[in-house]
Order: sequence, then structure tokens, then C-alpha cells
Amino acid sequence: MSTPADYHLHTPLCRHATGLPTEYAARAVALGFDEIGFSDHNPMARDDFDDWRMRLDQLDHYVELVTQARQEHPTLQIKLALEVDYLPGYEDWIRDLAARHPWDYFIGSVHYVSDDWDIDNPKKLAAWRTRDAFEVWRLYLERLTQAAASGLFEIIGHADLAKKFRFYPQQDVQPLFRRFLEAARKSGTAIELNTAGLRKDCREIYPARPILALASELGVPITFGSDAHAPEELGADFESARALARSVGYGHCLRFTRRQRERRVF
Ligand code: ZN
Ligand code: FE
Ligand code: FE
Ligand code: ZN
Repeated sequence: MSTPADYHLHTPLCRHATGLPTEYAARAVALGFDEIGFSDHNPMARDDFDDWRMRLDQLDHYVELVTQARQEHPTLQIKLALEVDYLPGYEDWIRDLAARHPWDYFIGSVHYVSDDWDIDNPKKLAAWRTRDAFEVWRLYLERLTQAAASGLFEIIGHADLAKKFRFYPQQDVQPLFRRFLEAARKSGTAIELNTAGLRKDCREIYPARPILALASELGVPITFGSDAHAPEELGADFESARALARSVGYGHCLRFTRRQRERRVF
């Protein structure tokens, strides 16, 4: 048994996080982690896509910062990854990024339900009030299901991110999650237990227990991530996440090296 690796860490390159990779690594060693992974927000082909990701010309520097953390913390396994935005039509761009560096894994995340609305962006909170919550969740899950089916990602990030600001639909969304999880199982894609939800308005791990229970029943594998945007957040609430995963029947999680999986007891 070992502490699950924290596979969801950001860096200052995304413009809304603090702490260099080597500082996250120092924190991880102090907390007793044996493995972590950096998964900062991917660059887009157009740098003006939005204001919360690295520029394309910073990608090599990102890889250098992770390499430096590895050199300065040789006892810690440090994985090189990206949190990649999934939007339909961006598949070729994602494959282009995949070919640029020896990535260990890609986390595929849906933040955008249209070209200009990232539903977790606090600056765009007002948009939620003009929309039907179920319609937004339906669009979100349609994209998430496409992401899971695409085979472009090892892991799907924060699978019920739509709950962040507590705009819950009246309708039952579980059938939509079942469709998503069946797509994940079919393509062999994992989902993550993301503890950042506990630090947001929804006050709950992503994804919620009923979704995780269904994932377990269907045999969808898991990883763990704090979605840390500062070194102090590394490993946050991992005991709760581990307990939740165990309570729905999980005993193993996945680790990735050069996009090859390995099962671990946690
Ligand atoms: Zn972020
Ligand atoms: Fe995200
Ligand atoms: Fe993230
Ligand atoms: Zn994230």
C-alpha cells in the first residue's frame, strides 16, 4: 500500500498558479509522496484563446522546469503531463501536442461547453444565470463523453466540473454519466478523483459518490489529483479521496509512464 500519486499539479506558467515545480516536489517529499505529476493547462495554437494557460512558446520551458524538479529531487518520481482542454475539432491539435515531448499522460478536461464559455471560470459566473442548468450539464457531458471515447487521453479530469458553482439541474443526470463512463471503459480511459472540488462552492470531490460508485461497478480505473495551483495544496484531502474510493469498491489506481499504464494498490 502506498499514498496515491498526485497527478494533477499546475505551475505559474498558466498565469493563475504559484510555486515552481521544484517547490511542489520539495513539498511532496516532505509529505512522503513517492510520485507526483505535473499537468498544467495546455497551450493552444492561438495564444489569445484565453488568459489561463501557457503560451505555445513556453511549452519547452515548462518541460525544462519539470526536468529541473526531477534533477533536484532524485528520490521522487516526477511525471511530465498536461491537462488538455477537449473541444470538438481540436483532435489534431491534441495529437500535435502529444508528439512534441515524451509525455507520461494527458488529462483530458472539458471546461468549454462552447467556443467562448468556460463554465468553471468565475469571471463568467453570470452566464450560468441566463442558461438552463440541465442544458449546460447535457452539453458538458456530451463533450466529456466524446473526450472519453477519443482515446486521446489517459485520464478524464474532474468529471462533474459542472457542479462547481452549485447550478444543479432538476433532471436526473445519472444516465448521462452512465453513457460517459461506458465510453471511458470502452476506450480504457481512467477518471480522476479530484479534491479541488472540496475547495470550491460545491464542497465535494469531483466526481460525486454516485458517479464514482457507477464507475467502480463498470470497472473504470482511477487516478488521484489535488489540482493544486500552489505547493500548499499538493496532496490536499487525499485521505478523504482514498476513503471515498475504497468505500465504493476501489483498491487499485493507475500510474503512467510514457503513456503506458501500471496498476497500483492504494
Ligand atoms: Zn487552473
Ligand atoms: Fe481543469
Ligand atoms: Fe487543473
Ligand atoms: Zn483542473
